[in-house]
Amino acid sequence: MSGLRVVRRREAFRAACRDARAAGGTLGLVPTMGALHAGHRSLLARATAECDVVAMSIFVNPLQFGEAEDLAAYPRTPEADLAVAEAEGCDMAFLPDEAEMYPAGPPAVTVDPGPLGDRLEGAVRPGHFRGVLTLVAKLFALAGECRAYFGEKDAQQLALVRRMAEALDLPVALVGCPTVREPDGLALSSRNARLTTDERAAAPALAEGLAAAGRLLAGGEARAEALRAAVLARARDEPLIRLDYAAIVDERTWDEPSVVHRPALALVAARFVQSRTRLIDNRRLVP
Ligand code: AMP
Repeated sequence: MSGLRVVRRREAFRAACRDARAAGGTLGLVPTMGALHAGHRSLLARATAECDVVAMSIFVNPLQFGEAEDLAAYPRTPEADLAVAEAEGCDMAFLPDEAEMYPAGPPAVTVDPGPLGDRLEGAVRPGHFRGVLTLVAKLFALAGECRAYFGEKDAQQLALVRRMAEALDLPVALVGCPTVREPDGLALSSRNARLTTDERAAAPALAEGLAAAGRLLAGGEARAEALRAAVLARARDEPLIRLDYAAIVDERTWDEPSVVHRPALALVAARFVQSRTRLIDNRRLVP
């Protein structure tokens, strides 16, 4: 395929994915909410390198937003997004509107994320992962057999999508992609555009706290509480940042160990006091 094909209807998307496989190709799927940045581009680049046909979806999923305010304020840049998708060699962009995706309104039947869905991000944003998994399950059902690319930046989302695909035998191979960062360490996010100038200057504190935890572990401090304290301490230096949580979890089980002797993730989530923007970040900790 050459050029970018834009589809807005579920059945057209399903048919195009089926045709791509029928032609003998492997299909790559990159689900997004648009406002594309270099993080999304890295997913597209990986997908185009590994798959014959690449489809991206752009849909700001109302089911995963708790606050109407955050949903309304979420950046939407469809024209620029389509130009990025085309430049990255993406073959197909699926841009349904809300009525197309949820024709009967918010669905009564949804995907239960299980206990991990209520912790950490799920505790701060009740119903968020139910909304994410319900949409992702629909995208997987429409796309059919494929490789699906997700960012490690949203680590809990990636873990839950993996668990869903395994639990429900979905014919999707998940590919986690490393977090793309600004030169000062700030993880790229569509929400970064909403930070005030002062908040933007303070924002690298999240990544710096995570890096400090990594250095502590490398220096022999394996107690999770000490590692967590390093993340907290850096963010608490910044008056514009209010932490929602910092946590150390086992990379595989997501249990919170008291001592890190297997690969773990340091997680942080914070809200900025001026713009109310909420950001998350994480870093792998390898003993
Ligand atoms: P979003 O549009 O925020 O829903 O993100 C779409 C996909 O891009 C998700 O799988 C995210 O994890 C991934 N993503 C977002 N930011 C980054 C980043 N900085 N680096 C790598 N992947 C990212």
